Amino acid sequence: MAKSLMIVDDSATMRKIIMRTVRMSGLDIDRTEEAGNGIEALEKLDAAPVDIMLCDINMPEMSGVELVKKVRELPSSVDTKIIMVSTESSQELIDDVIADGANGYITKPFTPEKFQEKLSPFMN
Ligand SMILES: [Mg+2]
Repeated sequence: MAKSLMIVDDSATMRKIIMRTVRMSGLDIDRTEEAGNGIEALEKLDAAPVDIMLCDINMPEMSGVELVKKVRELPSSVDTKIIMVSTESSQELIDDVIADGANGYITKPFTPEKFQEKLSPFMN
């Protein structure tokens, strides 16, 4: 079943690269949203929840880790699958953000195959 997706990253270039990689992955995505920071992401989620969120960690104003906690407090988004996409690859950080409510983790640089592998469990 087609899913809706939000890409949250403070770099517009990175958002474009992620969008293109998602398209190349062949995953069935019917609606895409973008947000440049956590506050924008929360506003957009409040207006229209998404099935899957791809979330950067290092962002000004609100980090991706903080955003995960806030999204989990939104009644509309308790079921949203959150996949972190970051150059940060310490196991401790990954474990912490998963404990905070993220559902997966993709390290940069990534490939369409990696997106396929990490997102396909959430496409049913
Ligand atoms: Mg960033």
